[in-house]
Amino acid sequence: MPITFTHPHSGERVTANLQPQVIVISPRYAESYSFDRAGRLLSLFMDGRSIQRTLDHRFLIRNKEGAVRRLELSPDERDVLLGRLFANLRDLRTILPESTLPPADQTRLADALDTVLAMPPEALEADAEAYRRLFLPVSILPPDQYLALVVQATIGCSWNRCTFCGLYRDRAFRVRGADEFRAHCRAVRDFFGAGLSLRRGVFLADANALTVPQPRLLTLMAIVQEVFGQPGQPPLPVFSFISAFDAQRKTVQDWTALREGGLARVYIGLETGSDELLRFVRKPGRASDALAAVRDLKAAGLAVGVIAMVGLGGDRFAAQHVQETLAVIGEMPLDGRDVIYLSVYRPAPGTEYPTLAEQAGIRPLTPEEEAVQQRTLQTALRQRFPHTRVAPYYVEGFAL
Ligand code: SF4
Repeated sequence: MPITFTHPHSGERVTANLQPQVIVISPRYAESYSFDRAGRLLSLFMDGRSIQRTLDHRFLIRNKEGAVRRLELSPDERDVLLGRLFANLRDLRTILPESTLPPADQTRLADALDTVLAMPPEALEADAEAYRRLFLPVSILPPDQYLALVVQATIGCSWNRCTFCGLYRDRAFRVRGADEFRAHCRAVRDFFGAGLSLRRGVFLADANALTVPQPRLLTLMAIVQEVFGQPGQPPLPVFSFISAFDAQRKTVQDWTALREGGLARVYIGLETGSDELLRFVRKPGRASDALAAVRDLKAAGLAVGVIAMVGLGGDRFAAQHVQETLAVIGEMPLDGRDVIYLSVYRPAPGTEYPTLAEQAGIRPLTPEEEAVQQRTLQTALRQRFPHTRVAPYYVEGFAL
């Protein structure tokens, strides 16, 4: 139950929602701040704007759709906002004994305020510095994994040559050794501290972490459970990406062993069902690899996330892309535990695709054409899989 009382001086309504995962404090109508249980500011609503604080201390304004386009506040704007926010929190802490709240609620709220006031702006900056030391930038996560605890078992992408993808061009691929990974996981656990209660499951990053050869991968999975799991409890759910091509290196028995070790859902970037378009964008393998991979994963009892990319291949491939993507996904044995994401192609800095497409005489889809392609895929996939979630994936809006 939220705690509410009237501010004894201003007469404004104060509300606090104190959950085991999150602290939400609203000092007045249409203003609220949320924190994790370590007192780390997560987001705020102020002056009619919904703002996310990223773990590296950027302040991003969300638009109405939630995450499509984001605008970053300047450091000066951010500092002014934080100054107001913490002044409000200090004020609440001061007037709390004057409130009409029952003693138990006063104590709970006082504890919560003490927790969040212990993370003032300087501490938030230091926290962000610690975060940057701990992680290479987390380039992307599936939308349902934004609250996962990310650990980087691998660095980068083992392929890293798809012409449309700039996610990991800043790093060479490598697999962390067991000792290094254990130290990383322990440091992640210590970094989040009481804030771990907000995190749901573990995301094994970066890209293609599941390509790690099976014995080594099982060791890394066991380390995840050793560091984050509870003895005697079922394994924590683990999530990760794999490319369809690489998924073929594992057998159903391998996937079953990984499921038993906690693996819950595997995300596959299909992008398109067209082999010709896959070749054009230099994505390895064929669309049928994705189909075979999903069949194996489902046979092993795992959930899957399949990602297709709207707009890839521009006008030249549009019809083929839609038709063959629907054909391939339509063959997949998807159920209610699975998800299909439709991301929209956006040129990434430093990637080859825009030049190669132009040289090939491919015209990018207009926003209207993209919307039509997205609707066509979404409608057909929802009809084909009435129990599977089909959702947009706003890659450009991603920020942790
Ligand atoms: S699309 Fe996936 S496989 Fe291709 S380079 Fe990017 S992360 Fe690697």
